[in-house]
Amino acid sequence: MKVWTLAVVRWGLGVGLGIVLGAIPGHAGGPWFAEPRSDRIVHYELQAHLRPADRTVTGRARLAWRNATRQPATKLCFHMYMNAFKNGDTLFMREGGGPWGRVRLPKEPEAWGWVELQRIRLVNGADLSFSYDADGTVLWVALPRPVGPGETIRLEYEFETRLPRIVARTGYAGSFFMVAQWFPKVGVLEERGWNCHPFHANSEFYADFGVYDVEIRVPRAFVVGATGEEVARRDEPTGETTYRYHAEDVHDFAWTASPLFRELRDRWRHVQIRILYPPGHEAGARRIGSAVRAALELTAEWYGPYPYPVLTVVEPPLYGLAAAGMEYPTLFTVGLGIQLPTWLRFPEAIAVHEFGHQYWYGLVANNEFEAAWMDEGLNSYMEAKIVNRLYGSRSTRLPVLGLWGWHHDGAMAPEAFSTDPPNTYAWQFANRASYNANSYNKPMLALLTLERLYGSDEVTRALRAYFRAWQFRHPYPEDFFRAMQVHLGEAAAEFLRKALTTTDTIDFRVAEVKCVPVRRSPGFYGYGTQRRWQALEEVTNRWKCGVLIRRLGTWAVPVEVQIRFRDGQATTFVWDGKRQWFRWAPDTEWTAPIERVDIDPRGQWLLETHRVDNGWVRSTPRQLQGLKNRLWGWLLYGLAAVVTLG
Ligand SMILES: [Zn+2]
Repeated sequence: MKVWTLAVVRWGLGVGLGIVLGAIPGHAGGPWFAEPRSDRIVHYELQAHLRPADRTVTGRARLAWRNATRQPATKLCFHMYMNAFKNGDTLFMREGGGPWGRVRLPKEPEAWGWVELQRIRLVNGADLSFSYDADGTVLWVALPRPVGPGETIRLEYEFETRLPRIVARTGYAGSFFMVAQWFPKVGVLEERGWNCHPFHANSEFYADFGVYDVEIRVPRAFVVGATGEEVARRDEPTGETTYRYHAEDVHDFAWTASPLFRELRDRWRHVQIRILYPPGHEAGARRIGSAVRAALELTAEWYGPYPYPVLTVVEPPLYGLAAAGMEYPTLFTVGLGIQLPTWLRFPEAIAVHEFGHQYWYGLVANNEFEAAWMDEGLNSYMEAKIVNRLYGSRSTRLPVLGLWGWHHDGAMAPEAFSTDPPNTYAWQFANRASYNANSYNKPMLALLTLERLYGSDEVTRALRAYFRAWQFRHPYPEDFFRAMQVHLGEAAAEFLRKALTTTDTIDFRVAEVKCVPVRRSPGFYGYGTQRRWQALEEVTNRWKCGVLIRRLGTWAVPVEVQIRFRDGQATTFVWDGKRQWFRWAPDTEWTAPIERVDIDPRGQWLLETHRVDNGWVRSTPRQLQGLKNRLWGWLLYGLAAVVTLG
């Protein structure tokens, strides 16, 4: 009976959600949504022709762009991202972006890429003049007359893109093509002007929502995967095939093509899942499929259902691994290049992370140039929750010296938390380690700390409200803080503001622990005839104890301290953390000396930078624990340098 009840409830919910979302059942090639879900600033009709031998995409575009601001637009700004890989003098390269900046620049011309606009004009109009900025990754188009508020302009343009050997997740490797950031893409016009940064190191992207209709022409042997849904396919007399894709209410379009792809099809509710993977990786593809389905289920329950009808997962071949771990609307790349035993869930964790970006980036579309933490941080938090729920907290940990480390532990780069606040432009972090720790780890630990302070359900409820208010839109940090203030309260918002916009750190240490046997001091006591001599007297099994706690962090928070004695007694107190130190030394005579001291024994302040000195154990030399922690830091840091998620 219960099973049936549940089934009915789920069916009822599904129908209800279908109505709420305006999803059209059985749309097959038709519109995805009865009503636009986003403001649809752009409508792109793109034609891409891949010539694998030249590693070139020739493209034609029709773009309808609407001015949604209150000011007239006198010019248009386009991102020309691929020019970041044109030579070693671009901002991206000079700032040390990508693997080339850190290792060495390739000498062969076929390793480099570029994009050029050939012509641009109003539809049925005269050619427009355009100019590149100094970096070449931004292009300005002069308009013959301003586009007024609410007006739409229709443009046609031709372009050519030379794909680089894969760098920053885009390009080619052998016959594998990952074609991302490949077309001249209009920037975002905001009330304060064009938000159209050149392509910087560490940075990802920012674009408006809209509709994409894209034709992709490739040699017939190639398998294609792309943002959106395949709606038509025709064979050309040239031995090529043209695929037509449609996507609605997305803000980018990426595609992949390779003759070697195998394909696995899967389904979750209304979502067609395609997994493209290299030969021999079928078992891995199945693992990824089940992780993605489970993640779809949990995110639907927590925040709201994934609204699109399609989801494409791409696992690059080993030699194209540089394209792995990156997100685009309705499409993402995964993979480690190696098969792992099923008790190690790194492949699943990567799939869950990149899938999670469909929520934090794809739907809630923050400006990734200016506030990467808004997608990477929220997504790392969600990834941690999903992976822990599905596979247990040790499934992505490796044991070292008896400690279980995790790629999300604060121990990874604690210094970085005091180097830059997370709310920093991507290229203005001190270094890559600071960008990583502050964009991924710190916001994740801040949200997990918030769960311990306010309850997991409450935080989920607040994030659900934020998600529902901001999906298909562009929130800025203040919008996030305001949502948290409304749904969790002023103190919670203040906590997040401090965690995400300052370098204040939480850090406590057990500085001293002392217990001395209670003894009656020798000497004279009393007056006159009452005066008597007292010899030294040890009181057996009575101890006086004192503990000195220090606050090393700049952030004063109240913290719980637990003291346990050798005979099993324990006492707990809360220190307000306001001064630099606190000495606990009650007059009590204890029946045993202290066995261990734990600051924050329940692990409430996950954000704390050095947790290892929070504990003092009578029988363990502290230096050994410090060494363990340091070893872990080095190991995880090395691992993170090799595998950095996009
Ligand atoms: Zn990410």
